[in-house]
Amino acid sequence: MTRAPRVVVVGASIGGVTAAETLRREGFDGEIVLLGDERHRPYLRPPLSKQILLGEWEPDQASTHTVAQAEELDVELRTSCTARGLDVAGRVVRTSQGDLAYDELIVATGSEPRRHPLLPMALTLRTLEDALALRDGLRSAHRVAVVGAGVLGSEIASAARKHEADTLLLGRSGTLTLGGVGTLLSDRLARLHEDHGVELDLRAEIVGAESGLDGTRIELADGRIELVDLVVAMIGATPRTRWLDSSTLTIADGVVCDRGGSAAPGVSAVGDVAAWVDPFTGRPSRVEHQSNAIEQAIAVALRIARGELGTQPVPLFWSEVHGTRIHAYGWFDPERPLVEAAGDPGIQSGTSATDSAVLLSRDDTDRVRGAIGWNAPPRDFRAARAAVLRTPELITH
Ligand SMILES: Cc1cc2nc3c(=O)[nH]c(=O)nc-3n(C[C@H](O)[C@H](O)[C@H](O)COP(=O)(O)OP(=O)(O)OC[C@H]3O[C@@H](n4cnc5c(N)ncnc54)[C@H](O)[C@@H]3O)c2cc1C
Repeated sequence: MTRAPRVVVVGASIGGVTAAETLRREGFDGEIVLLGDERHRPYLRPPLSKQILLGEWEPDQASTHTVAQAEELDVELRTSCTARGLDVAGRVVRTSQGDLAYDELIVATGSEPRRHPLLPMALTLRTLEDALALRDGLRSAHRVAVVGAGVLGSEIASAARKHEADTLLLGRSGTLTLGGVGTLLSDRLARLHEDHGVELDLRAEIVGAESGLDGTRIELADGRIELVDLVVAMIGATPRTRWLDSSTLTIADGVVCDRGGSAAPGVSAVGDVAAWVDPFTGRPSRVEHQSNAIEQAIAVALRIARGELGTQPVPLFWSEVHGTRIHAYGWFDPERPLVEAAGDPGIQSGTSATDSAVLLSRDDTDRVRGAIGWNAPPRDFRAARAAVLRTPELITH
């Protein structure tokens, strides 16, 4: 007897769940096995650094589905199940709960925080457990050092101030970065932090650290010592591909995929772990944004269910820092300063760190490649989004 076609999805978070959900919505009536190494039902990560850290949400509120919604999907969810290896030719995943044959495999194993070699005591933030530990730490901390000037460093510094801790944000490169926008908003973000009492040191070279009864002493290259009672290190993330090391997939800062998310016959990858070919550069690159994981998962599921190649996802990213909502849509060239959208019909602008503004990234021929809403009314950001060029016609191979 032949069995029904089986799709195995490795990684039970937003990318994996969206792929499974889309397959069912598109009428795929084979077996879907969704496996993940966490013990929880799938949950979203953006609330971890916002509502959960601030104590506004209970952990359950971050779940992607209620139990009833999950049952309706008719997906076999295996929690606490770790994928350990992959036989691409034989179409088998090796897991901590035994081997699993598949017809199509979707890799959605995300990424994990990089550890700071000199800060073994530092907390970090990726999982629900991390968020609860950090929330508890922030509740009692008087002085917090956040190491890492990326978006999560900014969000955690913002949460630390909400918990009324003295907050020091340490970076190395001299600038603050924000997802795919890179350093283009650094000055505006720095003013926002300063307006909210965050102490910024963006040229800090950490040379050592020691924990004692009175807290952690962080030693900087210029001889200064910062004494804090909580250290958080957010210095970037690496794709979770170790389990694929002995497979025949091409791994290079992520699972290398074509423009449709295909990594090998019968294998696709989506989300933080996947390096799809970028439409503007023609090179594989990873995008660590939730909406990218969702759009890639939908595109791959449509391909599997209908055999259709979907449209190229346009990166969409949002953050919230000190109550300022920041949305970014499209592609941003680090070499080209953003331009205020003032004067465009329906779009307001502003220059202070808390003012509402819409900022655009334009290419050589003045076409809009990216749009940013900085505390912008949704209608204004929507108008700017509509102007963003979607076509990958700019590929330079
Ligand atoms: C604190 C935080 C806040 C964020 N805020 C925002 C935001 O405001 N806006 C935004 O756009 N993006 C945000 N992001 C990024 C966004 O959450 C990610 O882009 C998104 O979670 C990627 O989804 P994913 O499914 O690809 O990977 P993940 O969410 O990382 O999920 C991968 C899953 O696979 C599991 N896994 C890994 N290896 C294995 C294995 N070998 N076997 C089985 N399971 C495995 C992992 O445990 C995990 O559950 C945030 C991220 C974090 C950490």
